[in-house]
Amino acid sequence: MKYVLSLRCRECGRDYPVAPQHVCEFCFGPLEAAYDYEAIAAEISRATIAAGPTTMWRYAPLLPAPAEGAIDIGAGFTRLREAPRLAAELGLRRLWLKLDGGNPTHSFKDRVVSVALSVARSFGFEIAACASTGNLANAVAAHAAAAGMRSIVFIPSDLEEGKIAGTVVFGGEVVAVDGSYDDVNRLCAELSGEKPWAFVNVNLRPYYAEGSKTLAFETVEQLGWRVPDAFVVPIASGSLLTKIGKGLRELHHVGLMPDEPGVTIHGAQAAGCSPVATAFESGTDDVRPVKPDTVAKSLAIGNPADGYYAIKEARASGGRITSISEEAVVDGMRLLARTEGVFTETAGGVTIGTLEKLVREGDIAPDQETVALITGIGLKTLEALGSSEPTYRIKPRLEDAIEVLGN
Ligand SMILES: *Cc1c(COP(=O)(O)O)cnc(C)c1O
Ligand SMILES: [Zn+2]
Repeated sequence: MKYVLSLRCRECGRDYPVAPQHVCEFCFGPLEAAYDYEAIAAEISRATIAAGPTTMWRYAPLLPAPAEGAIDIGAGFTRLREAPRLAAELGLRRLWLKLDGGNPTHSFKDRVVSVALSVARSFGFEIAACASTGNLANAVAAHAAAAGMRSIVFIPSDLEEGKIAGTVVFGGEVVAVDGSYDDVNRLCAELSGEKPWAFVNVNLRPYYAEGSKTLAFETVEQLGWRVPDAFVVPIASGSLLTKIGKGLRELHHVGLMPDEPGVTIHGAQAAGCSPVATAFESGTDDVRPVKPDTVAKSLAIGNPADGYYAIKEARASGGRITSISEEAVVDGMRLLARTEGVFTETAGGVTIGTLEKLVREGDIAPDQETVALITGIGLKTLEALGSSEPTYRIKPRLEDAIEVLGN
C-alpha cells in the first residue's frame, strides 16, 4: 500500500504497522488508515482521476489500495441525479440523489468490500467473512466469488429473503444466527480470534471503512468539483457518516479542492433503532445501546461502533442526527418512488423521511443544495411494503378494460 503510512489510533494517536488489526493495544481505541497526503498530492489531479476507471478505483491513491491490483467488479461511480420533483415537494431549490443501488450488488456496501477484500487478498487471506445486516453479506459473497475466495457470512436469522438469496447465489455460505446483529457481531469478534479469516468489518475494519469515502469523492467530482451545502446520510454503525467528512477534508489535503469543505452533514435513523439520534438529540455523545426493532434492517445496529464519532462529525459540521417513525420510513420509500422513479430499500426511506423532517424543521434551508445518499434498492426489502396487489383485475376483453379505467 503505497500511500498508507500506518494504522493510527483515533484516540491516543499511536501508530501501528499496516496489518490486519483494528484496535489499539494501548487504549482500545479504533485504528484508522493514515496517509502520506503530500505524496498523494504529487501524483493525483482532477485529470488523472478523470482518466481513471469508471469505478471507485479512480480514486485509488486515496484508498488503502494494494500494489498488486484491486478486486474491481464495478463498485462505485454510481449516478448522481438531480431530483427536481422531490425537491419541489419538499420545498428545496436543488436536491441530488446519489444512487448507490446502482452498485454490483445494489448497495453501497460494494464500496467497502471492494477495498477490504483487495487488502485481504494482499495479506494472503483465503477466506472472506463478515457480520452482516444483509447488504454486506451480498457484497462479500460477490467479491469473494470474483476473486476466487471462499466466503462465510453471519447474519441475524430474521433477515429479508432477498438478502439471503443475494448471498447464496454467489456461493457464499450463510450462517443464520438466532439473535440480533449485535449478537452476530460479538460472535464474529470472538471467531476472528480463532480463525485465520478476513472478517471485513472486524479485523479489516480500518481498510473496509475507507471505501465509504468514495461516496464523498464522487459527489464532489460529479457536481463539477463543487462541495454541496448539505448531505443526508443513513446511519447503521455510523462509519459512512464519519467517512463523508474525512473524504471531503482529504480532497482539500491533497490539493483537489482549494478550500476546506463548508458542508453540513446530517444523519438519519429509524425510531426502532436510533441509538445515535437519541444521544445526539439529548445533547450527549454517549451512545446507549438499544435492542433494534425496525423495518430498516440494514441499519439495525443497536450498539454502533462509530456512533460516537458520527456524533462528533455531525456536530462539528453544524448538522443534526435525528430519527423518524417506522411509518415514515415506508412513506419515504413511496415518496421517492412516486416523485423520482427511484425504488429504494428501507434505508433510503429513512434518508428521505429524515430529509423531509430536516427541511420541515428548518435544519436544512430551502436554498441549501442538498445531497441525499440512497444506499440500496427496494427489491431487496419488498416485505416492508406489505403485500402488493394489482390495481385492477379484468378478463382479456376491451369492454372490461374500458369499464375499470374509464374513457
Ligand atoms: C450498511 C448500510 C448503511 C450504513 O452503514 P454504516 O457505515 O454502518 O453506518 C446505509 N445504508 C445501507 C443500505 C447499508 O447497507
Ligand atoms: Zn490508542
